[in-house]
Amino acid sequence: MTCTDFLATMTDYFDGETDAELLSEIRAHLDSCEHCEILVNTTRQTIQIYRDHQVYEFTAEVREHTISSIMHRCGLRKTA
Ligand SMILES: [Zn+2]
Repeated sequence: MTCTDFLATMTDYFDGETDAELLSEIRAHLDSCEHCEILVNTTRQTIQIYRDHQVYEFTAEVREHTISSIMHRCGLRKTA
């Protein structure tokens, strides 16, 4: 799994909608990729903050922002 692959599955991951096989690939990637691990931790904290205020919603804006920041950190260019 690459960072781009992870990004594609990240919303499902946070929604708890990934199957067991994919989940183990994601976990393996997170173990080996500092960038994505940081991203996950940051996103999880953000979600927690939203939940605490009961306005949690993984909006397009949040998703766009998160994806942009990881792409930037990994030195990847956004193709989509
Ligand atoms: Zn990564």
